[in-house]
Parts: sequence; structure tokens; C-alpha cells
Amino acid sequence: MKNNLKKIAVVAMVALVIAACKKNQESTTEPQETVKNSDKVLQYIKDLGFPATSIVDNGNEFIVEEDITFPKNMEIPTNGAGAKTEQYYTGSIVNSTKKLNIRIFVDPSMTSMSSEINSAIAQWNGVTGSTLRFSIVTTAPYDILIKDEALTAPPGYVTCGMAQFPSGGSAGALVRINKAGIAGNSFAQRARTICHEFGHCISFRHTNWSAQGESTATNVPGVTGTDALSLMNGGQCGSGATVLSQKDKDATAVLY
Ligand SMILES: [Zn+2]
Repeated sequence: MKNNLKKIAVVAMVALVIAACKKNQESTTEPQETVKNSDKVLQYIKDLGFPATSIVDNGNEFIVEEDITFPKNMEIPTNGAGAKTEQYYTGSIVNSTKKLNIRIFVDPSMTSMSSEINSAIAQWNGVTGSTLRFSIVTTAPYDILIKDEALTAPPGYVTCGMAQFPSGGSAGALVRINKAGIAGNSFAQRARTICHEFGHCISFRHTNWSAQGESTATNVPGVTGTDALSLMNGGQCGSGATVLSQKDKDATAVLY
């Protein structure tokens, strides 16, 4: 009996040691897993067709083509492998449920541009043949956070805004607007910047990707070619189209 108790005690101690080892192992493997996900994100960006030279490592995110960001901890879309990005999109869109109400939370830093935000929302919500709708919410949960940030990366660019593409069926979760950078623009141009960034959140690429020297994008079926009137043309902060073009609307109706 005494001997058995001793055995049990030994087994228990061994179990404790094993448990302790496991705990240590877990804590050491965690950072590696974080690194791994960023490698997957990098591969996903390359799979979308962005050349390695266009990808800027910016701390906890990657930036491509000046205003599109990919968080290193993002969920990789399951159809990501071999995905290409026709107007032009990434191949990964907001799912059929979530597109009906994409909730935007306006950070206090952006409330001074609420009118511009509402104007941008009205453009997307007004597309005939599309059931995609944005709305403003004042509490969590929300799908997109829009906030002010002095955008200084990538170096050498004046970046007016940045946004994320959809992932996992959800809209791109973050829009950053360089409020100081666009403050001198007209109301219509400030609203354009915001409208453009929301366009990225729902998967649109730059319509002028070719002229901009960007990676090959996927045509939205039936809506092809260049479009000087597209609000989704890139590199036109302060000077581009201020209303969605007919082709922008057609592409939205096809996808949503
Ligand atoms: Zn853009």
C-alpha cells in the first residue's frame, strides 16, 4: 500500500514535469507561429500577383501600391491560393450576408469628416443593382474602423489614405485617412479619398493598375478595360473623379 502511494506520487510528479515542459514548449512556439502567419500573408500577397518589389514591410503590416495594407496577423482567404486580382478586384469579396450591412465605426479622430464619410457611403449605397450597404454604427461590433493617421509610409510618398482588402468574407477592417494631408482639398475630393478607400475594403483594385505600373489585376467579369472616369483610379488624390463612374457602378452590381 505504502509502495503504491509512492508510485502514484512519482507518476503524479512526472506528469507535472511533463505538463510544465509542455507549457514551456507552447510559450516558445507561439512567437514562431506569429512569424509563420506573416510568411503566409507575404505569400498570399505574392499569389495575388503583387511583385515582391512592390511590397513594403511596415512593422505589423505589409503595404502594396501605396494605399493597400495587409495586417501580418490577417486571416488568409481560403480561396487565396492562385487568386488573381476584372473593373478590377482581388478575387476575394465580402460574403453575401455581410455585404447587406457593412458597419463602419468612426473613430473620434475622424468625426470632423463625418459629412465626407456619409457622402462616400451614399455613393456606394446608391448603386443600382447592388445590395451592398454601408452603415455607421456608434458602438461595437463593427466591420470597418475609420481613423485619422499621419501616413508617412512608404517613405517618399504622400499617402492620403490606406485601406485593407476583404478577408474571410469580411470587408477590409481598417481605413486610415491622412486628415492633415487632405484637409486642403475640396469637400468633394476629401469625400473621394474616403469613397476610394472603402472601395478597397470591398475588394476593388486600382482601375488604372497598368498605367500605374502595378501588378496584373483580375477583371470584374464583363467590365473590362481602362476608365478615365473611375473613382478607383489610383495616384489621383486631390484630382481624381469624385463620383463613381458608370463602370464603377456596373462592377459593383456584378460583384454585389
Ligand atoms: Zn487606392
